[in-house]
Amino acid sequence: MNYGRIFFNDIANGIGCRTALFVSGCTHHCKECFNEETWDFSYGEPFTREVEDKIIQSLEPSYIDGLTILGGEPMEKANQAVIRPFLERVKKEAPGKTIWIYSGYVWEELTDPDNTRCHSADTEPILSMLDILVDGEFVLEKKNIMLHFRGSENQRIIDVPQTLRSGSIVLADRYYEEKRV
Ligand code: SF4
Repeated sequence: MNYGRIFFNDIANGIGCRTALFVSGCTHHCKECFNEETWDFSYGEPFTREVEDKIIQSLEPSYIDGLTILGGEPMEKANQAVIRPFLERVKKEAPGKTIWIYSGYVWEELTDPDNTRCHSADTEPILSMLDILVDGEFVLEKKNIMLHFRGSENQRIIDVPQTLRSGSIVLADRYYEEKRV
């Protein structure tokens, strides 16, 4: 897996102050994607063990709430194979930090074992390590710049632990307040 960039002390992609990792590769090709260069799986730099170490170190300060992975598409199957062991490290070496993933795939696609495009042996282990999944493609016609943490109204902010416990989608209502102007 390659990655395009890492933002440290990021406050735009999830709650609090976070490290944000933008991975490369995306097959959704949404109209007016904000990050078109990341569609190419070979864009950017290789995601090495040293890069993992740097991200995990960045999570150490108590004022850092956690890690957000976006892209590109973190949940392309090729990326899942790298993100799963990385998140296992994060859970072990940076316990207590929240983990968010942004995916153009919706929850129903990711959890469908027959969906050969995005479901793999890594999908459920990854979901089980998340606090929040922001799901759905960016839909230009539903773009709304007043939304917190998402670009278009179709996207959902899913409370993953509660969703897994209850067996049906639970939205993280606390993050749905619109921005104040
Ligand atoms: S899923 Fe995200 S990165 Fe991929 S095309 Fe859509 S907006 Fe761009």
